Amino acid sequence: MDQEIIIALTKGRILKETLPLLAAAGIEPAEDISKSRKLIFETNQPDIRLLVIRGSDVPTYVKHGAADMGVSGKDMLLEIGGADLYEPLDLNISKCRLMTAGLVGKDLPQGRVRVATKFTNIAKKYCAERGMQADIIKLYGAMELAPLMDLADLIVDIVDTGNTLRANGMEPLDLIADVSSRLVVNRAAMKRKHARIQAIIDSLRVAVEAGIAEEKSNTEASAS
Ligand code: AMP
Repeated sequence: MDQEIIIALTKGRILKETLPLLAAAGIEPAEDISKSRKLIFETNQPDIRLLVIRGSDVPTYVKHGAADMGVSGKDMLLEIGGADLYEPLDLNISKCRLMTAGLVGKDLPQGRVRVATKFTNIAKKYCAERGMQADIIKLYGAMELAPLMDLADLIVDIVDTGNTLRANGMEPLDLIADVSSRLVVNRAAMKRKHARIQAIIDSLRVAVEAGIAEEKSNTEASAS
């Protein structure tokens, strides 16, 4: 199908909050994504298919046009470089903050600072903008462990409630960016398939403005 639309979704917690928005916009997967190991899903719309992939891969798929559109956390867009992508809509879901954090009451060293993070590009930029001499240490998870084990002086990580930091004797320090999930669109696809893509953006905007995602999370909170 020439005018087929491929939408790349971030699996995990973002997916859970994305599906109600898509449903409100009239797009529903043909089968239960959570019960399948497939990566590509047909939908009730014959011209729309969904990819379910890692958040760090969504900007790459959309940038190269392997997907026409995608849902990506702003943290990933900042880290991987979302500048080549059209970002028409803040979906207002999976909100959190990208912050630096350190051990409670511990001052930073005078000279070079060791910064552990999975967001190495964001950390490099943050340190460079402040003239901080830094050694950036790439980790893939459990960033909070690094200062405890004296692997790093500072971490750059996602903070929501701050409970994970507190449980590990750490405190949030500096806000780098407010994060939420964004709709991103491949620039060439936006021109070539303009009418269809614009219609999807418009329906998603209506769903976001109607507070569909918030309604869903409130219902879940009161049910648990
Ligand atoms: P919290 O203890 O509530 O501050 O949550 C912190 C941890 O939860 C972080 O280390 C993240 O791994 C994860 N997390 C919380 N919110 C999000 C989000 N919106 N997107 C991705 N990861 C998140």
